[in-house]
Amino acid sequence: MSSKWRERFHQALSFRLAWWYALVFLGSSLALVVVTYLLLAATLRRHDREIVQSTLIQFAAAYTRGGTDALTREMQRTQIAGPSGPLFVRILGRRQDLVFVSMPERWRDFDLDQLASPALSGDQEWATVETGGADGDLLEVLSVRLADGTVFQVGKSTERRSDLLRRFRQVLLFNLASIVVIGLVGGAMLTGLALQPVRALADTVERIMRTGRTDARVPPHPPGDALGDLTTQVNAMLDRIDAVVGGMRGALDNVAHDLRTPMARLRSRAEGALASGDPDVLRDALADCIEESDRIMAMLSTLMDISEAETGAMALRIERTRLTDLVGQTIELYEDVAEDAGVELKASIPPGIEISVDRTRIRQALANLVDNALKYTPRGGRVEIVGATGPAGVRILVADTGIGIPAEELPRIWERLYRGDKSRSTRGLGLGLSLVKAIVGAHGGQIAVESAPGQGSRFEIHLPAGVPHITPV
Ligand code: ADP
Repeated sequence: MSSKWRERFHQALSFRLAWWYALVFLGSSLALVVVTYLLLAATLRRHDREIVQSTLIQFAAAYTRGGTDALTREMQRTQIAGPSGPLFVRILGRRQDLVFVSMPERWRDFDLDQLASPALSGDQEWATVETGGADGDLLEVLSVRLADGTVFQVGKSTERRSDLLRRFRQVLLFNLASIVVIGLVGGAMLTGLALQPVRALADTVERIMRTGRTDARVPPHPPGDALGDLTTQVNAMLDRIDAVVGGMRGALDNVAHDLRTPMARLRSRAEGALASGDPDVLRDALADCIEESDRIMAMLSTLMDISEAETGAMALRIERTRLTDLVGQTIELYEDVAEDAGVELKASIPPGIEISVDRTRIRQALANLVDNALKYTPRGGRVEIVGATGPAGVRILVADTGIGIPAEELPRIWERLYRGDKSRSTRGLGLGLSLVKAIVGAHGGQIAVESAPGQGSRFEIHLPAGVPHITPV
């Protein structure tokens, strides 16, 4: 992914996340603010009406007791106590004649004609009178018909309430603005923080793609969450790719190096024959070249097998197999060779041992060990394959009574193209044991050797009980 595209992707993702975060934050805050405001407005309205109701009861009682004089006194007393603010009080006689009216001078704007003849359907009724002014204040009036037919009215302006709500709205608006800022800044910071590992991951991938080097790693993220797990997985994947690529590179170098000598030999043989011009020499040289080419092809194929097995790229078809079958087939293959060489070849495998392996590959490894054993055992000797099983897995021993291997050669026999001093005269490429070791290793097993000159050799393969299923890459 190009850095420009990656940058755009991150910006788009960060922006979207920040935007959603701010939107959700803002939406829930707005809902909270609106609900709080509506609840407050309703509570204030109910409170105002309760004041009007209780005042009306108090004033009507005073009026019934002692007429307008008693009412005026009661009103003065209330005014002094003063909890309710200015009130509108009016009494209309039975014939709608005005008996008493009291209200602050500034309320004259209210169109009291709307209350002139209250059509009381019940004992009491609420009415709302508008000022018609710009500030939109209302006068909320409660009208009650007394027992003698007079109508008693007490009203209260919404002026104080509106003022309180207006100030509350201003505070809420300020808070809302702060919430928007916090939401946007917080959203941007949180998404930036949350996307940091993703950005680190993308940077690493981009670096690998740009440089072609697989040694770059994503900075570790605390494991346990999805991003931590992803980081660990990606790094593990890069480790594996690195190992395989390194292995392949090494294998390629080895193959190139190992093929150089036989190719040079092939060339000089052909060159020498051409220079001589003798048809017999040419014929011999061509035959040698064919032989050498076959050797090179066999060598190339074995080298590729070794490299694949060593790098984990070898495709293994793991199957449950009876050890007696595997060993039996190998013995069958080498019976005639052993007979010709005058060497006794036998196997001792307890029945019932089963192993999960790639049959072809393990058979190939056994064949190489038996081939070597027969090759390096003089006439009259013995080669034996012994199988055993235990909790740790299966052991297969290939023992011979041959020439043995000197101590100084023992560590080198596993190397590619290494051939022991005494084996130079025998056929071979020096790749057999390297292949055996690589195949056993690909099965998760190990191989060990015990040998001494003149006393024979013992090669022991150990395959674990649960052979891991290795997926080729
Ligand atoms: P090659 O047999 O083609 O030479 P290998 O990789 O199979 O190559 O073996 C490497 C060397 O290990 C041989 O050249 C030989 O010196 C030694 N070797 C292997 N197996 C035996 C054995 N059973 N007895 C004695 N020497 C052995």
